[in-house]
Amino acid sequence: MSAAGQRKVAVIGAGLTGPLLGLLLARRGFAVTLLERRPDPRRSAADGGRSINLALAARGMRPLARAGVLQQVEPFLLPMRGRMVHELSAAPVLQRYGQRSQEVIYSVGRAELNRVLIDAAERAGVTLCFEHRCLGFYDQALRCVEERPGRTFDLECETAIAADGAGSLVRESLERCGVCAVQIEPLGHDYKEMSLPALPDGSHALDPAALHIWPRGGFMLIALPNPDGTFTLTLFLPRSGEQSFAALSEDAALGQFFAAQFPDLAAFHAGLCADFRRNPQGQLATVHARGWHLDGRVLLLGDAAHAIVPFHGQGMNAGFEDCALLDELLDTGEDWAQLYARFEQARRPSTEAIAHMALENYREMREQVRDRKFQRLKRLAFELEQRFPERFIPRYSMVMFHPEISYLQALRRGQVQAGILERLERERTADGGIDAALAEALVREQLPPLGSRDPDRRTG
Ligand SMILES: Cc1cc2nc3c(=O)[nH]c(=O)nc-3n(C[C@H](O)[C@H](O)[C@H](O)COP(=O)(O)OP(=O)(O)OC[C@H]3O[C@@H](n4cnc5c(N)ncnc54)[C@H](O)[C@@H]3O)c2cc1C
Repeated sequence: MSAAGQRKVAVIGAGLTGPLLGLLLARRGFAVTLLERRPDPRRSAADGGRSINLALAARGMRPLARAGVLQQVEPFLLPMRGRMVHELSAAPVLQRYGQRSQEVIYSVGRAELNRVLIDAAERAGVTLCFEHRCLGFYDQALRCVEERPGRTFDLECETAIAADGAGSLVRESLERCGVCAVQIEPLGHDYKEMSLPALPDGSHALDPAALHIWPRGGFMLIALPNPDGTFTLTLFLPRSGEQSFAALSEDAALGQFFAAQFPDLAAFHAGLCADFRRNPQGQLATVHARGWHLDGRVLLLGDAAHAIVPFHGQGMNAGFEDCALLDELLDTGEDWAQLYARFEQARRPSTEAIAHMALENYREMREQVRDRKFQRLKRLAFELEQRFPERFIPRYSMVMFHPEISYLQALRRGQVQAGILERLERERTADGGIDAALAEALVREQLPPLGSRDPDRRTG
């Protein structure tokens, strides 16, 4: 056994990031134990059999490839080439995400992805402990409970990495010790998932190669395809107010709401209303935390460190990137304390950047996609990308298709680019065209070429 093979590392949480991290660490020869409070999802139907999916992008696929697990995930991926926008009284229109054929994002079932990652971690030698709950850091140790028979014990390991999600108990305990400063920013809008069934012949009721959006200004409905012909619909709506979850507590109000807002789904309203009544109402918030680690003993990672709202489809992608960065930093040979300090320093500016962009994207999805000016600027951004591919890449594309560009750099360059687009829009020529010379001057002056290496890259 290698020296590293005797070194014990615990990972808490077998959601999306925990098993990937466990797998990467096991491949390096660490003896990894993965603790999860739920029963083994491979043996029980998660979420009561509901099919819930997420968008996976290039940024999340790179770490899966690094861990050698992308091939096992690929059979579950459905490509989505753009947003299909459903306005109230117009035919749906596709707004492409990118302008190259490979610039797509993928719908993937959360349960399927979770199972593939847990299987891969187990095959790599990770010890899996389901129905083991971590209570947090107490008296210099991570205290855990084995749910059956109810035994409490302190984790014995060299270090522990907490991937226990947005409501992390480990983070809470670090906050109580004064190590971690946390600010939780509630969105004030909740969500509810529903299922759009397949047509009688098993095909999809909507175009399966798109992410569908019903933008309604103050709220929106979205739909992502599943391989079995169904779509997972998610309604994002204010918690209270005139158009809100609180206003839909009566059946009559719910029926009227669906009829008025989503008339193109009329054939499915009965089932959607039943799902709405049955399924839980989820809450959304951004978690801003600083102080992700305690000496070399504990580190927070994934949603536990930086949960964001889901509107850029990046929470899981960012968590996977965390795993790859930590794995990369292990090459430095530093001790855990140095490594964790370097990890947070490198990563937090970027996770703050994606938190900001995710909030901005909610407005874009529920409101701006309908706006003619927004659509014109999007076309203009594609034009500039074609003319200056080494300098101008639309912000959405930087985030979704260019993992070599950090979130922080995408945010910064995106701000500069937005200024350039606004100026070119303001100074359109008499025939409504773009002043090509001005475009060239602005791009060359304000956007240095994107080098092969992002200056913020080690900054996550
Ligand atoms: C509606 C919605 C849609 C989303 N869509 C997307 C998307 O399209 N693309 C994307 O990239 N991201 C998306 N996300 C975000 C994504 O779900 C999260 O970022 C991702 O799940 C984070 O992974 P994680 O492993 O950090 O946490 P989780 O996946 O939440 O896993 C945490 C795990 O820890 C376990 N656990 C919790 N507490 C304890 C404890 N005390 N002891 C032991 N185990 C514990 C939990 O049971 C769970 O299994 C979405 C989120 C929401 C809410």
